[in-house]
Amino acid sequence: MLINIDLHIHSRFSGATSQKMNIKTISMEAPKKGIDVVATGDCLHSGWLKEIKESTRSVDEGTLELNKTRFVLSTEVEDKNRVHHLLYFPSFSSVEEFKGKIESKSRNLETDGRPNVNMDGEEIAQIAKDLDILIGPSHAFTPWTALYAHHNSLKSCYGDLVDHVSFLELGLSADSNYADRIKELSRLTFLTNSDSHSPHPVRFAREFNRVEVKDATFNEIKKAVFREGGNKFVLNVGLPPEEGKYNESSCISCYKHYSLKEAVARNWRCTCGGRIKKGVKDRIEELSDYEKPVHPSHRPPYLHIIPLSEIIAKAIGQSSPFTKRVTEIWNRLIKEFKNEISVLVDVDIEDIARVAPPAVTEAVQAFREGKVIVHPGGGGKYGVIELPYLSEKIDLPLYVDKQKTLLDY
Ligand SMILES: [Zn+2]
Ligand SMILES: [Zn+2]
Repeated sequence: MLINIDLHIHSRFSGATSQKMNIKTISMEAPKKGIDVVATGDCLHSGWLKEIKESTRSVDEGTLELNKTRFVLSTEVEDKNRVHHLLYFPSFSSVEEFKGKIESKSRNLETDGRPNVNMDGEEIAQIAKDLDILIGPSHAFTPWTALYAHHNSLKSCYGDLVDHVSFLELGLSADSNYADRIKELSRLTFLTNSDSHSPHPVRFAREFNRVEVKDATFNEIKKAVFREGGNKFVLNVGLPPEEGKYNESSCISCYKHYSLKEAVARNWRCTCGGRIKKGVKDRIEELSDYEKPVHPSHRPPYLHIIPLSEIIAKAIGQSSPFTKRVTEIWNRLIKEFKNEISVLVDVDIEDIARVAPPAVTEAVQAFREGKVIVHPGGGGKYGVIELPYLSEKIDLPLYVDKQKTLLDY
């Protein structure tokens, strides 16, 4: 069977997170998005762990369920070099054991869902290995709190435990075309997760993975990560990396973009005097072994797409995905096709055309065919997506009429 999974979110016990990040709300939002399995995040936090235990039923040791949404136990930790790691646990007892081993090395286990641990990547990976816990770097290429922000190789981070690392999370600002220019990553399974701090469909599962498994359980997903028994990742889905706010090297004050060469020549100082922050694209350039991506045979396709409500907003010329009009079209599509992922990925375009405004249908098609134009972000400012088919058609008065008929549904 094919399932859609989002393996990185944060609960309301992490910093800057929505109060709605509770198990019940997530379990009800996941089916609307089309997500079958969600990683709990923050499972070292007592309050969150208690809520998970009390509000879900157990499918097996490492799999839980509420409202037909399944959960696997996970957390993100920040190591002493400010590198973020994702961990996936086979059982509640392994969570408790792991916690016992890092307790003396962490000062905020009970106050932050994503704790800081005063250990390096190798020390954390050793504990993970001993307890049969999966570990890999989170959003590996972002310029602040990631593996390649601090290290030049996996080995430099995980030392002798590097072989225990089985996956790498690409993060919102990279895709497999970026990462497969680096030789040491070719054996790893790439994860595309939302890292969401809110259950709203514009954030939750904005990146997700589609995997082939026998059942929606921790063990089956683990086999997919290891590509065992026919289980595997069949699709990575995520935002175009150029949309990321640190895609190109740019000034963090005035957002002027620079090539890597120019930035180096200018000693990372902008003409305005501001600091130029190295972009993910240039960091990949520095790390790359290959001029062009070399995908290993196990690598699934990568589909670039943005959340449906953002597509609708862009297509009908509205500046926000939270307006009444956008929500009405979104609801209509979800009612008709069950969930957002079917609309974005699976349903025939002709069927979407029966329900959606022409501009929305064309926009979904443009994404599926990789025909959107992305003006890259940088220096902390997001990129801008342009819909080629619509550049001349975004004409609000025209859409007012179309809207009326469409919203009569
Ligand atoms: Zn992180
Ligand atoms: Zn500047």
